[in-house]
Amino acid sequence: MKIQLNENYKQLQESYLFAGIAKKVSAYSQAHPDKKIIRLGIGDVTLPLTPTVIQALQKAVGEMAVQETFRGYPPEAGFDFARQAVVDYYGRRGTKLDLCEVFVSDGAKSDCANLTELFGDNPVLIPDPVYPVYLDSNLMCGRKVTFLQATQENGFLPMPEGLTGEGYLIYLCSPNNPTGAVYNKEQLTQWVDFARRSGSLILFDAAYEAFIHGDYPHSIYEIEGARECAIEICSLSKTAGFTGTRCSWTVVPVELTAGGMSLRDMWERRQATKFNGVPYIVQRAAQAALSPQGIRECQGLVDYYMENARSISALLDKKGIFYTGGQSSPYIWMRCTGNMDAWTFFDYLLENVQVVGTPGSGFGACGEGFFRLTSFGSHEATKEAIARLDSLL
Ligand code: PLP
Repeated sequence: MKIQLNENYKQLQESYLFAGIAKKVSAYSQAHPDKKIIRLGIGDVTLPLTPTVIQALQKAVGEMAVQETFRGYPPEAGFDFARQAVVDYYGRRGTKLDLCEVFVSDGAKSDCANLTELFGDNPVLIPDPVYPVYLDSNLMCGRKVTFLQATQENGFLPMPEGLTGEGYLIYLCSPNNPTGAVYNKEQLTQWVDFARRSGSLILFDAAYEAFIHGDYPHSIYEIEGARECAIEICSLSKTAGFTGTRCSWTVVPVELTAGGMSLRDMWERRQATKFNGVPYIVQRAAQAALSPQGIRECQGLVDYYMENARSISALLDKKGIFYTGGQSSPYIWMRCTGNMDAWTFFDYLLENVQVVGTPGSGFGACGEGFFRLTSFGSHEATKEAIARLDSLL
C-alpha cells in the first residue's frame, strides 16, 4: 500500500499490558493444563450486578419490546434522566453540576483516550506509574509526555513543585491505579492552584472514588476553583460492577474555555460526530445504580472486595513486605521480593504458585520492582491465592 500511516504508533510498546499478561498465562496453562491458575491481575470485577440495577434493566428491556416505549438512537450526550442521576449523585455529596456539563459515555477508557482530540500541541504531564491509557493515547497523537514520578519517597503522590511551564495537560488519577494512593484536599488544592496559575487543564480520573475510605475528595470539584481548570472522568465499572455493562460519564464545566473556544461545546460536538450514545437499557441501569438505594447496594460490592484487600494486606504485614494501597482502592501495590524485577516476579509467582498479578513496570518506569494485586476476586479464590503466596514468599 502507498498510504501514509500514523507513525506515532511506532512509539507504543508492542502490546497493551494486559494482552501481554494474557499471552503469558495462556502459554503457561497450555503447557500445564493440570494447574489451576488464580487471577489477581487484570482489574475486572467478579460480583454480579445488584438487584436494583437488574430490576431497572429488566424493566427497560420490557419497554424495548413494546412499540410505544421502544427507543432508537439515544441522545449522544445521554438521556436527561441519566445525566440528572449523575448531577444528583454529586449533589448528595455537596457538589453542584449542571445537566449540560455531564456527558454519559460507554466507558472511562474511551473518554480518557478520546479527550486527547480536543487539544493542540501542549506539554502533557502523566503520573508514573498510572493507568496506561493516558500515555498510549497521547503517544498515538504524537504528544510529548513528561512523567510525574510517583515513588515511595513522595508517598506515590507527585506534586507540582518544580514545574515551571504553562499550558500543561495534567492527568491525575485518585485513588490511583495501580498504587492505590489517594490525594487529600490540601494536595488537590495545590494541584488546582498550580493549574490555574499556569493556565493548565487537569484531567481527573475518579474511576475508583467509590473505594475511598476516610476524608478524601471523591471529586476534583470539591476543590475550590476546579471548575475553571478541570475535566472529570468517572465510571460505574468498578463502583457498580459495570465493566461488562459499560457506562461512565465525563464532566466538562462551562467555565473551561481557551482561545475563545468552549471545551464543553467542543466535547459535545465531538461526541455528536463520533459517538452514537449509550444504550437506553444501560442508561436506565446507570440511573438505578446511582440512586440512593443503588449506591447502598454498590457499597456492598465495595465492602466485599475490600475484605479481600484486608486479607492480602494482612499477609504482606505478616511477611514484612512493603506495600501500599488496599485502603481507599481495590489494588495492593507491593514490592517484589528477593530484589526481583517486576516481570521476573510475575514469572516466579506464575510458575511456582500459579498466582497471576500485574508487573508494576507495565504502568510506568517507576513501577519497576513493584507488583499489583487486585481484590476483585472471590473471597475463596483470594484466600487460596493468599495461602499459596504464604507458602512461597
Ligand atoms: N480509569 C482507570 C484509572 C482505570 O483503572 C480503568 C479501568 O481499569 C478505567 C479508567 C476504565 O474504565 P471503564 O471500564 O469505564 O472504561
